[in-house]
Amino acid sequence: EGLARSESLFRGVVQSSPDLIAIVSPDRSLRYLSPSIRPMLGLDPEALLGRAVVDMLHPEDGRLLSQMLDVIEAGKALPDALECRVRHRDGSWCHVEVTANRIAATRGDDGADQGRPEGFAMSIRDVTRRKEMEAEITFRAFHDSLTQLANRTLFTDRIERAVARSQPGRTQVAVAFIDLDDFKEVNDSFGHSVGDELLVTVAGRLRSCLRNVDTAARLGGDEFALLLEDVANPEEALAIVRRAMEVLRRPFRLGGRDVSVRASVGVALGSREQFTPDELLRNADVAMYAAKAGGKGRYEVFDPATHDGSGRRLELRIDLQGGIDRREFFLVFEPIALLASERIAGMEALVRWNHPQRGLMTPEEFIPLAEESGLIVPLGRWIIDEACHQAKGWYDDRDGIQPPFVAINLSARQLHDPELIHDLEASLDRSGLPPACVTLEVTESVLMHDVDDTLQTLRALKALGVRLAIDDFGTGYSSFSYLRRFPVDILKVDRAFIENLQNGPEDSAVARAIVKLAQTLKLQTVAEGISNPEQLQLLRDWGCEFGQGYHFSRPMSPQAVQRVLRDRTGAAALAAATASSVFAAQRLAVPAGAEL
Ligand code: C2E
Ligand code: MG
Ligand code: MG
Repeated sequence: EGLARSESLFRGVVQSSPDLIAIVSPDRSLRYLSPSIRPMLGLDPEALLGRAVVDMLHPEDGRLLSQMLDVIEAGKALPDALECRVRHRDGSWCHVEVTANRIAATRGDDGADQGRPEGFAMSIRDVTRRKEMEAEITFRAFHDSLTQLANRTLFTDRIERAVARSQPGRTQVAVAFIDLDDFKEVNDSFGHSVGDELLVTVAGRLRSCLRNVDTAARLGGDEFALLLEDVANPEEALAIVRRAMEVLRRPFRLGGRDVSVRASVGVALGSREQFTPDELLRNADVAMYAAKAGGKGRYEVFDPATHDGSGRRLELRIDLQGGIDRREFFLVFEPIALLASERIAGMEALVRWNHPQRGLMTPEEFIPLAEESGLIVPLGRWIIDEACHQAKGWYDDRDGIQPPFVAINLSARQLHDPELIHDLEASLDRSGLPPACVTLEVTESVLMHDVDDTLQTLRALKALGVRLAIDDFGTGYSSFSYLRRFPVDILKVDRAFIENLQNGPEDSAVARAIVKLAQTLKLQTVAEGISNPEQLQLLRDWGCEFGQGYHFSRPMSPQAVQRVLRDRTGAAALAAATASSVFAAQRLAVPAGAEL
């Protein structure tokens, strides 16, 4: 009687499982299919019984499943879940994840199964939605959301490949930098939505001029770029560039008026032996500025003899070197809030440069140069030291409350510096800050290069007791299975995914998927760039743990941080919406015009 009961219980479980349960005979034919095949594939179980299980699968996947069953039959270790496609009744392919197990043959006295299995039990889970999400995340990571053109990441990658493929002496690669003249005026006089419309139209027109092998990209604002591969001579590339400029000159119908825009274009050509991809891009940029300076609506081809683009950069590099010695750099801190309580959980250190001639400079203006020149290593060493020093102050002031952790950004170059571990250890020692109070942020792309090296460094950092975060997640390479390999604790969802959250399910789907997938990987999530209460509420509802952004606070000076943390009444609860909120008070505390 007990047996009958457990059998009926088992039947109940199988029949109500959202996963499709299949029992397969040793000859690999289908013996049983649970009812969930109806909602999943639109099929009746009876229609398939007796058929070969591989017949359900995409032809390319059948072999993989057969191999999986071979492994199971041989009694070797249980294979991982297999991702494959099964046919839906409507002819489409449904992505599923299959796990299989052998059904034990007659058991010996010792309970071990003997000989061939009696068959296989398979559990088939519909992962179509997840696959779509992953594809969407990947697409968004590499495309500009407004125009759907390639973004800078994808564009740079394409240049790299094209340059590697070029055949010196026979084919070249051309990069054209395109900047719309007077776009700002269109934006100002017609409004942003018309400006956006113009950008979308420009993108379409640029695309129409290209050959299949070429790539059009939007690099930001009104900056576009073309990559022309495999050109035999400069004239071939210039013919395409001239055509592009011409189609852009045709009037656009905007806000009931015909508007025509012109563009300034800089072109750089080269092959593997002459230039690195970075140099090509930079040369095109330099040529574009020359075109603008020469009177807009023109193109200019980079000529190393006349365009000494390195002048300004060289100067800045020398300044950078001296600036470290002259202590022209300082740190500001952006609060990271625990979303549930809106308490301050951490502070991200962000570097600024008080340049004697150029004034306050943001990291975007000098970090790339610091990375390129290697000066990021000494600068980064100072940043680590200073951040630890500040955080020790918060730690000493903690007064029974959990002190905020400090998040420090690391460049790829620093991660590959053999002295990094030692430097960090020294800073921790000098300041007396417990390592658990430090989180190091590295960007996704860092993980993709020199994987073994990077893995080793990350492990050594973890061994010191600090935590690791992936910064700007979603803008680089978004393979979640890849992430699993790295000992990271925190995933920071890039601002680009948070921006349009409040516009509805369509725009929020990707952010939501990232938060969810992070949770399945047991990572904590920090949403970047939260700028309104609607975004905060959604993220909170999804179980995203932390967040930062202008909704809470702009980056603050160390003095302001100290004030905020000492003000226990305020620091205890960040009721962001009320005037008494720490963050609201903080906004007032930063003098107007002293935007950090
Ligand atoms: P990040 O690490 O992703 O830092 C967040 C950036 O987003 C900061 O810009 C921050 O001010 C800005 N931000 C935060 N909330 C909002 C918001 O609601 N809206 C908008 N529009 N922006 C928001 P910041 O300080 O200019 O830093 C830019 C990037 O420069 C950082 O991105 C980081 O990659 C790099 N960086 C900054 N400090 C350092 C540093 O000390 N070392 C290194 N290696 N890189 C740094
Ligand atoms: Mg960061
Ligand atoms: Mg970030």
